Amino acid sequence: MQTLDCLEITKADTIRVSALHALAYCPRLFYLEEVEELYTQDAAVFAGRRLHTELEKQEDEEWEELFLESEELGLRGRLDALRTRDGQKIPYEHKRGRCHRDGNNQPQAWESDKLQILAYAYLLESALGITVKEGRIRYHADNVLVHVPLDNSGRAAVQEAIQQARVLRQSTHRPPVTDNERLCARCSLAPVCLPEEARLAHDREWQPIRLFPEDDERQIIHVLEPGTSVGRTGEQIKIARRNQPVETVPARQVGQLVLHSFSQISTQALHFCADQEIGLHFLSGGGRYIGSFDTRHGSIQRRIRQYAALSNPDTCLELARKLVTCRGQGQRKFLMRGTRGKAEVPETLNKAIKQMQILLKEVPKAQSLASLLGLEGNLAGLYFSALPCLISQGVAKELCFNSRNRRPPKDRFNALLGFGYALLIKDVMNSILTVGLEPALGFYHQPRSQAAPLALDLMEVFRVPLVDMPIMASINRAQWDVQADFDIRGEQVWLSEAGKRKFVDLYERRKQESWKHPVTGYSLTYRRLLELEVRLLEKEWSGEGGLFAQLILR
Ligand code: SF4
Repeated sequence: MQTLDCLEITKADTIRVSALHALAYCPRLFYLEEVEELYTQDAAVFAGRRLHTELEKQEDEEWEELFLESEELGLRGRLDALRTRDGQKIPYEHKRGRCHRDGNNQPQAWESDKLQILAYAYLLESALGITVKEGRIRYHADNVLVHVPLDNSGRAAVQEAIQQARVLRQSTHRPPVTDNERLCARCSLAPVCLPEEARLAHDREWQPIRLFPEDDERQIIHVLEPGTSVGRTGEQIKIARRNQPVETVPARQVGQLVLHSFSQISTQALHFCADQEIGLHFLSGGGRYIGSFDTRHGSIQRRIRQYAALSNPDTCLELARKLVTCRGQGQRKFLMRGTRGKAEVPETLNKAIKQMQILLKEVPKAQSLASLLGLEGNLAGLYFSALPCLISQGVAKELCFNSRNRRPPKDRFNALLGFGYALLIKDVMNSILTVGLEPALGFYHQPRSQAAPLALDLMEVFRVPLVDMPIMASINRAQWDVQADFDIRGEQVWLSEAGKRKFVDLYERRKQESWKHPVTGYSLTYRRLLELEVRLLEKEWSGEGGLFAQLILR
């Protein structure tokens, strides 16, 4: 392989040629990648990398790896290949896909590919001080080579794109979604851009399609056994439990690692989890959420926007009203399910449902967070006073309960709720960190405990469907062993290790269930809904709001 020296013409605030490719595809894509630093390693990107590796092997006689940077032009980039034909230097670009076809079915470059190869050709001229007459793009899917001449109009197009890129880099606002919906269907950043949801925010008649997978299939590994050691071996996570064979799991199959109690994790494994973007979370032996290790910090631009939005008391109040409505309605709807098919409904249940309806009408009128907290407290009081009415007859009396209590839980039902909410806040934190928002800055909860206010805010949306409902169903199905699944210590009741294992299984299976989003109209697993909800929250201060906290039971 021939390798030219890397030309160091740095210092200037240059733009990457590949960023111009994104810009030509969609200005919003450029902004998401360059300003907000959002990337996804989707299958197409990996396939592209493989293609380059194969080409390097096949064509090492002609392959030249060349990094160029031109301060004068304001551009930098790494050429796929540079070849000499008839004494002329010609940059090559390799694409996995098919070429564009004109009206006569003649092969053409796609507009974004054309701008990219023109930019490489122009950069080559500027950096090496030579004349470059053309660039070439090979589309491997249909084995076509397209020639793109570099003339003055091509150079002007590149300069114009560089200027547009500079302006966008200074902007603090995301550009709108493209009008060409077909581009979104092939865009690797559609799962974070959420173009269909942005269109719905502007047009309530819009019927969005889902542009991302319904589920995240990576494993969530819970290490429940004290004394377990977690390490790294090659590209795998290694888990050594006492008196058990060592388990290894390929890192790419792991989405989260949850360490309960006193497990150990090596520094190598910590670094590896950070590198592989595996969420790492810690829960105490008593089932309390302790914290998360995560090196994803999100882009500064997005955090500045979050700070600006959530420093505004009116914005916070409006979001908090939506949140309290969402939680209160969810609680009320769940109670109403308990009346279905019943000839006689307990008076407590009926009364709570009616009074909650009255209180819910007051929520949109609340003029302060303090008055909302009062309403929310009253709603929760009514809900928990009526919740025991949903426990079926014949359930062991040890599993019944009278009221909500915590730290420490005083009965089995509250032990289940406490552990469930700890797992939920862990998942909400994971979603916040994945999306890249600042967990410490919420809009409703105040910083009181070590739990991040934004996580406390967001978990309100999911308490009923992800914790309360599966607990009630499992109790009514007699899934709990009142002795083996609990540890009773005086007045305190905790889940035993067996109970925690059973709960984790119940909870993770619940997260795999799909729910049709009441507003977007498409189905997603709860696991994906957690992340979607964080992204929809961010849209509230990005000019695409109106979809947050709409996840209400029917
Ligand atoms: S999903 Fe659509 S609007 Fe969003 S960046 Fe991609 S092409 Fe642009």
